[in-house]
Parts: sequence; C-alpha cells; structure tokens
Amino acid sequence: MFFRTEKLLIPLEKPSSPDPVGAAAIQELLGGKFGEMSTLNNYLHQSFGFKEKKKLKPFYDLIASITTEELGHVELISTAINLMLEDSVKPGEPVDAPLREAAEQRNTHHTIVGGGGHQVMDSMGHFWSGQHVFSSGNLVTDLLHNFFLETGARMHKHRCYQMTTNEAARNVIGYLMVRGGVHQAAYALALRKITGVEVTKMLPTPNLDDSKIPEARKWQAIGSHRKLYTFSEKGEYSDVAGVWSGPADWADGEELEVLQGAPEYAADGPVIGECPTLFSPDYAPEEIYEIAAQLMQKGGVSPLQPGDGKHSRFQGSTPDSPGATQQEGRKTTATINDKPKKKK
Ligand code: MN
Ligand code: MN
Repeated sequence: MFFRTEKLLIPLEKPSSPDPVGAAAIQELLGGKFGEMSTLNNYLHQSFGFKEKKKLKPFYDLIASITTEELGHVELISTAINLMLEDSVKPGEPVDAPLREAAEQRNTHHTIVGGGGHQVMDSMGHFWSGQHVFSSGNLVTDLLHNFFLETGARMHKHRCYQMTTNEAARNVIGYLMVRGGVHQAAYALALRKITGVEVTKMLPTPNLDDSKIPEARKWQAIGSHRKLYTFSEKGEYSDVAGVWSGPADWADGEELEVLQGAPEYAADGPVIGECPTLFSPDYAPEEIYEIAAQLMQKGGVSPLQPGDGKHSRFQGSTPDSPGATQQEGRKTTATINDKPKKKK
C-alpha cells in the first residue's frame, strides 16, 4: 500500500506567462508511450506481478523504489501542465466568445474537458493506454524493457525541452532528465549484475548530455544523478543497494548512494488559481470556499481566529494559513458565519 504526502518532488512556481501550446506538447511526457504514466505503470505492475520477490529482493526493491518515484513524476508533469494552462483563458462575457483563443489551441480538451487542466493523453490527443505496459514475468526481459523505456523517455524529454521556454516545463524536464538518467543506469546495472553484460556500453548512458541543459545541471551539481531513493522510511527497500552501489563509472565515477525516504528538497507545491470563465472550481466558487472554510473550522485542521467573522484562508489574512501567500489578491466574498450555512 502507499502513503501520500502533500509535497512536490521539487519546488515549482507559477511561470511568468501561460503557454497552452507548450502544454499540448508536454502532454507527451505525461500520457505518451514513453511518458510518466507509462514508466509508473510498467514498474507498478511489474512489482505487483513479481515472481519470487523475496529471493530476488535487490531487483524487486529496485523496481518498487523507482515505481514510487514515478508516481511523483506523474504529479510533477501534471502540475507543470496545469501551471502552463493557468491564466491562459481570459475572463469575459459569453456573448463575446472569450474562449475563442482556446478554440485555436492544439489541445481543446484542456479547456472543454479539463476546465483548464491536464489530460491523461499524449501530445496528439490519444488517451494513455494500458497497452503501453510491458510486464512479462521474465525479470531480464522486463529490466531490458525498462532500460529501453527510460532511454526513449529521456530522448522525448530532450525534444520537448526544445519546444518551450516556459519555466515550469523546463524546470520539471531538467529534473526528470537527471532522474531518468538514474533509472536508465540502474536498470543497466541490474542487467549487468545478472548477465555480466555491460549494458551501458551498448547504448551511451546517459544517452544524452544533461550538462547542456541548465535546469538539469543544477541537479547534477548536488549529486542527484548518483542517488536513488526508497520512498519508504522503514528501510523495507534497502536491498536496492545490492544493485545501486559502487562507482558511477558511466558518469563521474563517484559513489552511488541509496537514501531512505524522499528527497530532502521536496517542497510545498503551487496552488493553481480559479478560472471562473471555465466554471473551475464551480460557477459560484465563493460559496464552496465559504463551506470549506467552515469545515476547516469544524475539523480544527486550519485554526481560524475566534471572533474574526471575515477570516478565511482564501483571503490570506494570517501568515500561517497555507494558502495565504498564493491566494493573496484573489477576489472572494467568503466569510465565516457563526451559524453553519444551510444548504438550499
Ligand atoms: Mn519518470
Ligand atoms: Mn524513470
């Protein structure tokens, strides 16, 4: 089973401007054959169907640890797409066709179906499919497939990087290039442990030069290309060190490291703002903001100041409210009443 924590793998901020055309391209990295949905689901289902996982624990632990990381990558790419779409639709009266620009975008599903949000599809609008999952029950074949998958994924990321200058997209791609390099090398190393074949010499590994990408260089500089995380605090997956150890002889020759838990740089993610033109989150958001504020008061999750009839986390009036900074300047009529609101 899985635990969830309210962090993004890396800090990510709202980009300086929206980029719906770039967002349509970046969809490939989420729902394409080599996208994050594919890496996640390949490893997820290989780990569920793994034969003799106790006898083969270092290899099982490798696939299991990378699975969990890939779930975080799905979250990262989705968040980047949502940030690229934020504010891409202008407010206006329906009669003036304020969505005309959105109709001209490559991916009209972002607006019509997603209400300004990502879709589980590739850059050509094909929905992600379980047919992209390869889980053969044969460990060597699966590892070889995974090595190939990571190799192709890095190539697609490199191409997508060159399709947009959007900061959110580039920050995520730069990071995922480095992490994909780790996964590519890890599967190559696992194959070497089993077969003795130097897979990293068959294809250059990493297959592309990350140092040409500034957003990747900063992660290399802190050694992210040598680190594997177990995403578990209890050391249940620490036998991954049987595979991921020794010198990174395909890179800088420094020692490979396994770390328990999640990366220390994981951070609070951005809050994506409302888009009234698309009825996101609803046609009258103030009302649900108010209901939510009252529920938070009830649950004691986000302490509200007693007697402050106007306080709401959406108005950003206390520094300790999590939404305070991101939500500042947003217009809302939400207030807290003493009496619970009656639903009509
Ligand atoms: Mn990934
Ligand atoms: Mn990967």
